[in-house]
Amino acid sequence: TKKYSKNSCSLFSHELNKETADRLTIERELKSAVRNDEFLIHYQPIIDLSSGKPSAMEALIRWNHPELGMVPPDRFIPVSEESGQIIAIGKWVLFTACSQTKKWQNQGYAPFRICVNISTIQLQHPNFVQLVKSVLEETGLDAKWLELEVTESILLEDTEILKESLRKLKALGISMSIDDFGTGFTSLNYLRQFSFDRVKIDRSFVQDINSDLNGKAITSTIITLAHKLGMEVVAEGIEDSVQLSYLVKELCNEGQGYYFCRPQAADNHDFFVEIKK
Ligand code: C2E
Ligand code: CA
Ligand code: CA
Ligand code: CA
Repeated sequence: TKKYSKNSCSLFSHELNKETADRLTIERELKSAVRNDEFLIHYQPIIDLSSGKPSAMEALIRWNHPELGMVPPDRFIPVSEESGQIIAIGKWVLFTACSQTKKWQNQGYAPFRICVNISTIQLQHPNFVQLVKSVLEETGLDAKWLELEVTESILLEDTEILKESLRKLKALGISMSIDDFGTGFTSLNYLRQFSFDRVKIDRSFVQDINSDLNGKAITSTIITLAHKLGMEVVAEGIEDSVQLSYLVKELCNEGQGYYFCRPQAADNHDFFVEIKK
C-alpha cells in the first residue's frame, strides 16, 4: 500500500506538472503568435428569426500554431487573461473584425452587426473605451454595427470603473450584449442598471429544449424576462429544427448555431448563400 500511494502521488504531481508546463508553453507561444500572424477569425452568422435573414455575425478567434495545430480559444483565452496578453490579442480581434465588416459593406453585402467577445480584463483596462473609439475611426465602421459581448460575470464586478466604461461605450453608439446568459449569478437589478441591448441564452439551455429537462421552461422564461426589461434575445447553439421551432414560437429574436451555419473563415465564398432559412 505504501508503494501504491507513492505511485499515485507521483502520478498526481506528474499531471500537475504537465498542466503547468502546457500553460507555460501556451503563454510563451502566445508571445510570438500576434507577431507571426498566427491568429485568424472565424465568423458565424446570427439569424433574425422573423425574417430568416442574417442580422449579425459573431467573431470567434482561432489560433493556428505551427506545431500545436489549431488551439481552441477555451485553451488559450483563459491563459491570456491571466498573463495579460488578452489586451494585445483582444485589440487585434477588435480591429480585424471591424475592418472585415467594413470590407463586406464596401463589397455591397447588406450590413449586419459584428459581435466581438470582450473579456472582463479588457473592459476594465483604462484605455478600452479609447481603443474602441479609435478602431471605429480607423476602420470607418459606423458604431451602430458594433456589438460587444461580455459574459455575465462582468455584472459581479460592481465597480465604478466598470459602470463608467459601460456608460461611455453606450455613448459611442455601439450595442452591448450579455453572453452565456443564465449560467452565472446575475442579479436582476444589475440587468436594469446597466441597460444592455441583448442577452444571449447559453447553448446548454437551448440543447435541453429537446430533453425532458427544464430547457423549455428556462429559455421561455429568459425570453419573457428580457423582453419585459426592453432587451432582445439571441439563442446560441441551435442544432436542429425542434429547437428552432420552439424558439420561434416563444418569440426569440435571433438565433445562432450549427443548424444555420458553422463558424467560417471570411474568405469562404459560399458563406453568405449557404445560410438556411
Ligand atoms: P462563446 O462566446 O459562447 O461562443 C460560442 C461558441 O459556441 C463558439 O465556440 C462556437 O463555435 C460554438 N458554437 C456555435 N454554434 C454551435 C452549435 O450549434 N453547437 C455547439 N456545440 N457549439 C456551437 P468557440 O469558437 O470554440 O469559442 C469558445 C469560447 O471562446 C467563446 O464562447 C468565447 O467565450 C471565447 N472566445 C472566442 N473568441 C474570442 C475572442 O475573440 N475574445 C475572447 N475574449 N473570447 C473569445
Ligand atoms: Ca460570444
Ligand atoms: Ca456564448
Ligand atoms: Ca461560452
